[in-house]
Amino acid sequence: MNTVQVKDKQFALYISEEEILARVKELANRMNTDLAGKNPLFLVILNGSFVFAADLLRDITIPCEITFVRVASYEGVSSTGEVKQLLGLTQNIEGRTVIIVEDIIDTGFTMKELLRMLEEKHPAEIHISSLLVKPGNLQVDLDIPYRCFDIANEFIVGYGLDYDHEGRNLRHIYQVVE
Ligand code: 5GP
Ligand code: MG
Repeated sequence: MNTVQVKDKQFALYISEEEILARVKELANRMNTDLAGKNPLFLVILNGSFVFAADLLRDITIPCEITFVRVASYEGVSSTGEVKQLLGLTQNIEGRTVIIVEDIIDTGFTMKELLRMLEEKHPAEIHISSLLVKPGNLQVDLDIPYRCFDIANEFIVGYGLDYDHEGRNLRHIYQVVE
């Protein structure tokens, strides 16, 4: 299937499931080497990362823990607009090696806020992993050592990512057709 319709938009095949799985496996292998002996805690950011996380973590062969959190916008508190809050973190992360598992980093503002909130809990170290990065849109300084694909500033859908709540179940990654 080279094009799909999600709601009112057409999307064209951009990265096939086969390519994705190959890159995800490479990434997992690198993590297995780098993080051996650290018993990392993988912090999966819902919703978009659920497919990436399921594939990545089944290729992780070192002892590790996995937990799921959500980043929500805090409403009606700050005049600066987007203030985020972290929901669902029940583990104590003090002294732990934490690996954030994110679907896509666009401006980087969400990740920057997440890092700030996690650092208050005094982990030993935090490393960012993201399936996709849009380097052309990044507006903050972020070190993203674990990434699968750098992509153009186009809207994409599939493999966990949605367009207006739909399309997360598509096997491949698709790019919007203007
Ligand atoms: P940032 O704070 O880095 O600008 O935003 C990251 C969030 O924006 C992602 O977690 C995702 O929810 C959303 N996002 C950014 N670009 C895309 C895209 O191309 N497709 C989809 N489906 N979501 C995106
Ligand atoms: Mg996300």
